[in-house]
Amino acid sequence: MNLGRRLHELQQLDLRLEKAAEDLARVEHQLNHNEALERAKSDLEAIQKEQAALQDKQRVAEYAVDDLQAKLKPIQQKLFAGSVSNPKELGAMQQQANQLKSRVREEEDKVLDMMAQVESLQNAAAAKAADVDNIEREWAGKRNQLQAEQAELMATLDSDRTTRGEILGQIDPDHLRLYERLRQKKQGSAVAKIEQGRCQGCKITIPVSELTQARAGELVQCGSCSRVLCVP
Ligand SMILES: [Zn+2]
Repeated sequence: MNLGRRLHELQQLDLRLEKAAEDLARVEHQLNHNEALERAKSDLEAIQKEQAALQDKQRVAEYAVDDLQAKLKPIQQKLFAGSVSNPKELGAMQQQANQLKSRVREEEDKVLDMMAQVESLQNAAAAKAADVDNIEREWAGKRNQLQAEQAELMATLDSDRTTRGEILGQIDPDHLRLYERLRQKKQGSAVAKIEQGRCQGCKITIPVSELTQARAGELVQCGSCSRVLCVP
């Protein structure tokens, strides 16, 4: 095979290898990061934390109700028993009982409020847990697909690398060095086809003598862009 064509073949293979390596990196990134799932899980955790904190506060308020009722009970018993006859003492006791009752109502209201909030957080947590389940189910299918893509890309890379080794063995090391140098300088495009007498890298017209050399399989570089020329 003529040199220009062989180098062009190598270039196509290198471009394919680069793309396959990029695709593989993307697929592997997706396999390791499911952002939707991570977000749903962390949302669920936040709701559950809020719920637990609120339930702690609710318990504190319930203890406060118990405490107040424990203080109220003996006063009420005394009042009902009618054992206090001193009107001043009786008035003071009644006032104390009323104060305690109103504080009990306040604390009970707080408890009821918190119970309602806990319930709404429980509903939110259940909905979010269902989200997590759904995303996980979808993810199972997607993961299989990604793993299949990963296996396919790895097989492609493997076989292309073997082919590349074979092609390299057929090219003179000096020519390979030139190819690699140009590949770096020209962002992967070291070899340009000649179409309608023009270099497809820079569109300049190639002199007939060089065209003939390239056709004969010799190494010819474009006088303008330096790319190795290839006659298709
Ligand atoms: Zn050119």
